[in-house]
Amino acid sequence: MAVVLPGSTAEVAAVVQYAHAQGIAMVPQGGHTGLCGGAVPDASGRQIILNLRRMRDILSIDTLEGTVTVQAGCRLADLQQAVEAKGWYFPLSLASAGECQIGGNLATNAGGHNVLRYGNVRELCRGLEVVLADGRVWSDLSGLPKNNSGYDLKQLFIGSEGTLGVITTAVLRLVRQPRQQLVALVPVPDIATALRLFGAINDEMGEALTAFELMSDFSMMLVARHFPEVVASLPLNSAWSVLVELSRPGTAEDLLSSFSGALDRSIGRTEMNDAVVARDLVQGSRLWAIRNAIPDAQRREGPSIKHDISLPRGQIAGFISELYPLLQDRCSGVRPCVFGHLGDGNLHFNLSAPSAGEAQDFVLQRERLERLVHDRVVAHGGSFSAEHGIGQLKRNEMARYKDEVTLDLMQRIKYALDPDNVMNPGKVLPDR
Ligand SMILES: Cc1cc2nc3c(=O)[nH]c(=O)nc-3n(C[C@H](O)[C@H](O)[C@H](O)COP(=O)(O)OP(=O)(O)OC[C@H]3O[C@@H](n4cnc5c(N)ncnc54)[C@H](O)[C@@H]3O)c2cc1C
Repeated sequence: MAVVLPGSTAEVAAVVQYAHAQGIAMVPQGGHTGLCGGAVPDASGRQIILNLRRMRDILSIDTLEGTVTVQAGCRLADLQQAVEAKGWYFPLSLASAGECQIGGNLATNAGGHNVLRYGNVRELCRGLEVVLADGRVWSDLSGLPKNNSGYDLKQLFIGSEGTLGVITTAVLRLVRQPRQQLVALVPVPDIATALRLFGAINDEMGEALTAFELMSDFSMMLVARHFPEVVASLPLNSAWSVLVELSRPGTAEDLLSSFSGALDRSIGRTEMNDAVVARDLVQGSRLWAIRNAIPDAQRREGPSIKHDISLPRGQIAGFISELYPLLQDRCSGVRPCVFGHLGDGNLHFNLSAPSAGEAQDFVLQRERLERLVHDRVVAHGGSFSAEHGIGQLKRNEMARYKDEVTLDLMQRIKYALDPDNVMNPGKVLPDR
């Protein structure tokens, strides 16, 4: 029906109050980078989009607490740059940082590359201000690191994908900028070896490990095909590669020597010789560019069927070796494009059509292939949604895989906060 661009919390509250009174449904929207249709209105023409991009101010940086108070419409990249200029670091790191907004990050409980060390954005949030479905404002912006006075209400809104209220302001935790950083690309023959390396680094340098990303040979080949300048002269002859990022105080030599020791003890000389260690931040960002180019490269290859899954780390090798033949059985020639945050047990298990020419027929098999993948994920103790959320796309999976008690509690919370179902209806929860 309309796109509304409020400029303050009071304006959000006024719009919400009015829409609530008129029974008009609202769809909060941030940078619109979500991948599950959460910020997309339905086709009725009776919903309004509340986009917060005018509310982009950084309100204060508290250097004693190590926190920043920011409006929800601030782009993630703008927040990162602003705090870095003051010697601080906001560790949420997503490839969509140039477009996504803090409100969207909180509403989806965004993860990204640095979850291993700093957690999801839930772990980085110290306070919120939210406009409720009836237009009242709930505010807890004290930013206290310890506050056990009753239910921790902010946690309800984080990850609720705009179904419980509109996030307008947040207090977020900052950390000091890491002093030494090492980025390396290590080819590995299989997932078991990748996890052995993960275990060794974790044992020996635990705190220093900030990212541990997996890329299949097919995902890297797609980058080489569609963005040859990004992959440049790197060897592409192993089944898998991991991108490791370490950061800690001390000297660069100490970091390199600990990393080499972990490599040596876990995966042996051959792979070690093929590892590419960035010599400086510029080279490090080139290695990251390969990882970050995969989603675009896959898009250029044609339509695909995407899965955003998580598994206990110990189950990943078994899951993949079990699923690959089953997929070929159901859809001969299908090309799995597997990459993601192996250190968090979170993989983007995407499927490309057997050939670019077959893409249209291939996507018609979405439901069948999704069922196969998600059934195996759940059988291995995993989740069908690790970081992108539910939105509209995965509501059926909620109905299928979530137990009755969990769904009942979620429905009750939704009803308690939004009895008239005006706040982003048709998202997250399955129809009753
Ligand atoms: C290239 C690329 C890489 C990505 N990488 C990652 C990744 O590594 N990790 C990850 O977690 N995600 C990733 N994403 C997904 C996406 O960027 C995140 O989910 C992000 O947090 C969404 O933020 P947004 O501002 O774009 O939200 P939108 O897409 O606008 O909205 C997402 C949801 O949040 C709700 N919402 C938005 N703003 C508010 C608000 N102020 N109050 C209440 N509800 C609100 C919307 O209603 C919707 O349900 C990636 C996406 C792309 C395109």
